[in-house]
Amino acid sequence: MTLDAGSTIGILGGGQLAQFLILAATKLGFKTAVFDPNQNSPAFKVSSKNFCSSFSNKSALKDFGNSCDVVTYEFENIPLSAIDIVRPYCEVLPKRNALEIGQNRILEKSFAEKLDIKTAEYSKVSNKKDLMNFLKEVSSKGIIKTITSGYDGKGQFLVEPHLINETIIKVLQHNECIVEKFQEFHSEVSIIAARGKSGSIITYEPGANVHKNGILSTTTVPTNLKKNTKIELVLAAGKILNKLDYIGVMGIEFFNTENGLIFNEFSPRVHNSGHWTLDGCMISQFEQHIRAITGLPLGETERHSNVVMKNIIGERVSVNTNNNHSIYDYGKLEVRHGRKMGHINIIKK
Ligand code: ADP
Ligand code: MG
Repeated sequence: MTLDAGSTIGILGGGQLAQFLILAATKLGFKTAVFDPNQNSPAFKVSSKNFCSSFSNKSALKDFGNSCDVVTYEFENIPLSAIDIVRPYCEVLPKRNALEIGQNRILEKSFAEKLDIKTAEYSKVSNKKDLMNFLKEVSSKGIIKTITSGYDGKGQFLVEPHLINETIIKVLQHNECIVEKFQEFHSEVSIIAARGKSGSIITYEPGANVHKNGILSTTTVPTNLKKNTKIELVLAAGKILNKLDYIGVMGIEFFNTENGLIFNEFSPRVHNSGHWTLDGCMISQFEQHIRAITGLPLGETERHSNVVMKNIIGERVSVNTNNNHSIYDYGKLEVRHGRKMGHINIIKK
């Protein structure tokens, strides 16, 4: 079913991703509603209707579901219980399975493996002995990650056999964790893909990502990836979206290594590494997501400009007069260490 202009799109989560989704939805004639516990959520200033309540408030979630024609989410750590409360009242897209797998690193990696998409070697670990055994087996450094609730490098620790300290042991005691083999990558890349209600899939050109302290710092397009690698990325994206019967935009991250592409993770939502599409393409990832979940046809993904997307993290955004800088300030009240405050798309001729 295609939603008519004037229908209401609900978004669980009110951060900058929701804000951009709303601007795209408004452009296409839709109304929007945002649900977020934080009254200062960036998306509240642009949505048609706001629901400021906890993700465990059943009656607020029910009211939210009742007032929307489709509901989506902008964050993979939205509790599944919240989705389950909304679902009887309104269709939620992308479907629950994508969120369930995307919020759990073990489910996510085993899902990729079943599709013959290579992942880093990993193991569930709950104590120092498990960790030592794994590091010995892979003879490499490792990265500990909490199985759930991680984003922007949160809940991650680099480990080496001689560097297993009290902090790490405590993390293992108090959280369910995996350890992954450390990847000596040439580069990190991601691909933004969308699948519509008809099952058609489109992808944007992959971007090269630089992370600092686990947080995305820059995305650059075009990349110098080999043609075969680009094809491999598109095929992997196609397999993932089809298998999930996915509807919407997804960001998928890979390590580009000597041994080829290694899948890192997918995000069942629009993705920071796709922000370049706001200025590099006629139709951004945000509009593409709105088109997908409302049943509209997906649009053009061709890149018309070379772009470096630079995140502004932990500092105020300052507006400059560079002709080739397209500046975005998320309007967050409080500057915090590691907090994404805005980004700049720098257009390179
Ligand atoms: P998040 O969910 O926080 O984005 P990721 O798994 O994407 O977590 O990790 C964040 C970043 O940490 C990655 O983009 C990469 O730079 C680095 N990283 C994560 N896992 C590995 C690994 N196995 N080897 C090398 N670097 C890694
Ligand atoms: Mg990541």
